[in-house]
Amino acid sequence: RVNAQLIDGKAVAARVRAEVKAEVDRLKRERGLTPGLAVVRVGEDPASKVYVNGKKKAAEEVGFHSWEHHPDADITQDALLALIHQLNQDPAVHGILVQLPLPRHLDPDVIIAAVKPEKDVDGFHPLNAGNLLLGRPATRACTPHGVMRLLEEVGVEPAGQRAVVVGRSNIVGKPMALMLLQRNATVTVCHSKSDLRREVEGADILVVAVGVAELVKGAWLKPGAVVIDVGMNRKPDGKLVGDVEFAAAAERASFITPVPGGVGPMTIAMLMRNTLDAAVRYGLAPVVR
Ligand code: NDP
Repeated sequence: RVNAQLIDGKAVAARVRAEVKAEVDRLKRERGLTPGLAVVRVGEDPASKVYVNGKKKAAEEVGFHSWEHHPDADITQDALLALIHQLNQDPAVHGILVQLPLPRHLDPDVIIAAVKPEKDVDGFHPLNAGNLLLGRPATRACTPHGVMRLLEEVGVEPAGQRAVVVGRSNIVGKPMALMLLQRNATVTVCHSKSDLRREVEGADILVVAVGVAELVKGAWLKPGAVVIDVGMNRKPDGKLVGDVEFAAAAERASFITPVPGGVGPMTIAMLMRNTLDAAVRYGLAPVVR
């Protein structure tokens, strides 16, 4: 018995990519500018390869220039920094994405901070993260940015609602909480030391980004809650499931994202949006030397 309306992330992501493509076509025609995305993938992480291929494919489909830099896993931090500096200087590159995780000998904080904030299309640079905190314009982390777009698409207005975010990572949970706060939700952030059930029971809007299969039980939900499941967990039988017990949750929620096909496709779509925005903002700006 499914009462909830499914939020079709695949369809919304396709719409976002089509919007980006239309704007790219116009930018090329009217301004002679092609947005460029450089992706850096260090070494051989199988999951990273899949993600990077997806990003390259999406970039080509919307009409960007895209480049993949693929240094060996044993690249030194200095050599990787030199590559990033080169991409920072390259006027054809508007977006730089360093695929995480990096091999252990490389410090992701140092690498991310080396990317020019204007080209940081992941929204992970401390300047972008800080501007989000301060409520100033900033490039927004793709996954929570995509969640905000999904809420908008289904007409969920966060203002005045109790939003509960489960997970406090720098790439999903924290920026998610800040984006909901900016839209005037009353936000609670949960983590591994929280009394999860108690907090979830009060949620009008629930966003879960933990990485534990079916951690949040459907029976905990407030009837009518809006449920956004960011988690992607592979079960032993190969099935992909979220962080929320889907079938039971779908009986109580008003809206729910499926896994797969919910938040997942939005991340790449918002990366395209961020890259286009970076190209428009800085690619068209007069060069100051
Ligand atoms: P992290 O591992 O960085 O963070 C997980 C968070 O969950 C931490 O804050 C942790 O708390 C919290 N947590 C762990 N166990 C519990 C628990 N039992 N109860 C409450 N909170 C708990 O993960 P990410 O944020 O990077 O990713 C989260 C999930 O989202 C993963 O499944 C990942 O695959 C998925 N993901 C999906 C994306 C997409 O495109 N759809 C993009 C990015 C991620 P503490 O801080 O206390 O340790």
